[in-house]
Amino acid sequence: MSAKMRLTLWVTFMVMLVSVMVLVFILVMNRHSLPEDPASYLVDVVIDNANDIEFDRGTFEWDELSVYKRGVYCSFYNTEGELLLSANKEDMDFSNVPFKSNQIRTVRSGDKDFYLYDLYVDMEVSGVWIRGVVLTDSHIGITDTIMRLTLILLPLILIVTFLGALLISSRTFKPMEKIVDTANSINDADDLTDRINLKHGPKEFRQLAGAFDRMFERLEKIFDAERQFTSDASHELRTPTAIILAECDRAKRKAKTAEDYRESIDHIAEQGERMSDLIEELLGITRLQQGTERYPLRKADLSEFVTVTAEEFVPADDRGMHMDTEIEEGIMCSFNASLMSRVIYNLLQNAYKYGRENGYIRLALRRDEGRALLSVKDNGPGIAPENMDRIWQRFWQADESRGSGGSGLGLAMVKEIAELHGGSVWAESTPGKGSEFYFSIPAEV
Ligand code: ADP
Repeated sequence: MSAKMRLTLWVTFMVMLVSVMVLVFILVMNRHSLPEDPASYLVDVVIDNANDIEFDRGTFEWDELSVYKRGVYCSFYNTEGELLLSANKEDMDFSNVPFKSNQIRTVRSGDKDFYLYDLYVDMEVSGVWIRGVVLTDSHIGITDTIMRLTLILLPLILIVTFLGALLISSRTFKPMEKIVDTANSINDADDLTDRINLKHGPKEFRQLAGAFDRMFERLEKIFDAERQFTSDASHELRTPTAIILAECDRAKRKAKTAEDYRESIDHIAEQGERMSDLIEELLGITRLQQGTERYPLRKADLSEFVTVTAEEFVPADDRGMHMDTEIEEGIMCSFNASLMSRVIYNLLQNAYKYGRENGYIRLALRRDEGRALLSVKDNGPGIAPENMDRIWQRFWQADESRGSGGSGLGLAMVKEIAELHGGSVWAESTPGKGSEFYFSIPAEV
């Protein structure tokens, strides 16, 4: 059974329960407020009236008297039997019933039975007859009315409650249907770019939809990164694998001396190492992209960190180059130290690799409109304008860089790291004069 039907039935059941309880309560109260036997409260009402009768200088005073009370009708007569005061009830004429004081009698008028009770009040000057009548089934009449009303009203109340609850719960659960539909369509179409994007509806559902959207976003990233990893790995590992296999084949067929074998093994080991580095870098960048490995950002002094990292940096081959630094002090940032050292390492390593022999490198850090701007400049041959965008792509290398020992993943990694820090990267380059790489992330004020 759907949640909305359960809710509707529950509300309807509760309303029915409460109505029945109220009915029982009314009936019980009714029985307590009216004595069981109408005859006994008939006597009470008549005696009450007898106590309230007054004569003022021979005139009958009726201000205090009750001609009708709790189902009892009272009439007042003088000693001659003339009517002084009565409730105007035409269908109840008992004037021809003889007076008999202090006795309860049963009389019939029309098709109804009444109790009749007379009381003579002697007032010295004159006397008054009080005659009270009440229906023999007086209180049952009220109970009956209540029961009859309930039988008509209860089904009405229940129908209105049921329909109202169904309408409200249908409206409330509408956003839930949207969530389910989107989840199903994502599943059916295998399209993780779709989002629920719930703007209206109860807060809890909007939160749920938001959580789902965030989950879809994360899944999309993970699947994308995985897909890319698979395609990159199969593509990039193909060449070294082919070289290893060819080298093995060559050694088997042509190698004769131990020297020949050693040469082949060296060649294979070199390719193996290259593969291992490639896999390591590929995994690093994929994890970064997927966000599966956490890289917590901590607030620290970036100036100090860059100074120390630059001092500790040892280039693979310095080619007679000279590096100097220009670091503005006290720039505080939230960053991940191991990723940041990776950025500095990659940019410096590139500058040493692709810079001019005996040239210079400048590593700078400064504040720039509330951001920390790290830059690495060299006076190497530069990058052709048409390649300026490509350098950030995975595996892209300029033709002349192929033998540099790099994998083409360094700058792609720098870009990912900048994005993880909420920052950006770009480069400026003049062919023949040199390049400058920029890495900018938000700084603390
Ligand atoms: P890798 O260095 O492993 O080839 P990168 O992603 O670090 O990969 O760089 C991609 C390409 O960008 C390099 O192959 C090179 O052609 C170019 N490049 C990077 N840094 C510089 C630089 N300082 N000067 C000229 N070209 C550069």
